[in-house]
Amino acid sequence: MAASAVMSDTWWRPRTWVVVAGRPEPSPDAPMEVPVVASSTFTAGGERGYGRYGNPTWEAFEAALGALDGGRATAFASGMAAVDAAQEALLGDTDPHAPIVVPTDGYHTALALLAGLGRPVREVAVGDTDAVVDAMDGACLLWLEVPTNPLLDVADVPVLVRSAHERGVRVAVDATAATPLLLRPLEHGADVVVHAATKYLAGHSDVLLGAVVAREPAVHDRVRGRRAVSGAVPGPFEAWLALRGLRTLAVRLDRAQATASELASRLTGHPALERVRYPGLAVDPAHAVARRTMDGPGALISVEVAGGAQAAEAVVAATRLWRAATSFGGVESLLERRRRWPSERASVPESLVRLSVGLEDVEDLWDDLEAALTRP
Ligand SMILES: *Cc1c(COP(=O)(O)O)cnc(C)c1O
Repeated sequence: MAASAVMSDTWWRPRTWVVVAGRPEPSPDAPMEVPVVASSTFTAGGERGYGRYGNPTWEAFEAALGALDGGRATAFASGMAAVDAAQEALLGDTDPHAPIVVPTDGYHTALALLAGLGRPVREVAVGDTDAVVDAMDGACLLWLEVPTNPLLDVADVPVLVRSAHERGVRVAVDATAATPLLLRPLEHGADVVVHAATKYLAGHSDVLLGAVVAREPAVHDRVRGRRAVSGAVPGPFEAWLALRGLRTLAVRLDRAQATASELASRLTGHPALERVRYPGLAVDPAHAVARRTMDGPGALISVEVAGGAQAAEAVVAATRLWRAATSFGGVESLLERRRRWPSERASVPESLVRLSVGLEDVEDLWDDLEAALTRP
């Protein structure tokens, strides 16, 4: 019942791969999709051996994601477990005094984990390519997030990977908010991609799951080795849910992105807002790089509400259709004032509200948001 791996002689497009990759081979009476294999151990003599080393349901999800990103995928219990393994795999054999270059605004828990390693860290605005290149002098790792969360800055991945490798610097890209449909960093030579599959890949706010996709077999082996000893393994049911979600990624993301583009244009210039950030807007600082390097601007929008933190909280409290909750990438639209978390980075404005656009009718989303912005 092996899941079919990348069919290297078949040049399908990503919107086909999400549907077909990782399916059981089409032999008579084979199931159309991999079942949930709930087993903590496996009969001796094979490669899995034990449930911390492998599982057929994870392997199907990994085959699908690996085919999409063009590398070898390893699934983890959460996005953070994947971040941890990627950091360990890329830093394990480096000089502990060599700096790590990170975005000034990035997923705060991932950056906190890096900071906790006790290595020197250089923060840089990743939309400023020259500044990133300067910061890489003597560094061992460039940690990128594209687009950044929550300021939606877009790093020039092709240019930065080339500069990094010329300097012997490894590159990891957290592409959670882009998904492989909008950005495939391994095609540009990045060493690993990290995904919080919790967000768009699984897509229904019902599972925590992560993955690391590596370009080189040696890095992949380190990532898998880390999982085997740390035990940060996904449950088979969670892996199955993520694979099920992945099958509809293209239609979900395309729809959410179209709605986000429409909402971002309507929000632009709204008197209740001081700023709208969305890489799809022609006036956005990330627009040019996003157009050149990505296959779409995504479905996250960040707005700065006039009147500061209190005004922003009032908008969040006033919506009825948009739900106040953290996270993103589900079918339902969510909004959140990011600085409500004491751990959020100080570079994120107090008044910033991140919108995760879901699949509801665009007019209902607009009516609800507009009413919350202009309430008496
Ligand atoms: C959510 C998120 C993570 C962490 O994923 P979990 O599944 O919550 O552990 C990492 N990176 C980014 C960009 C995220 O949005």
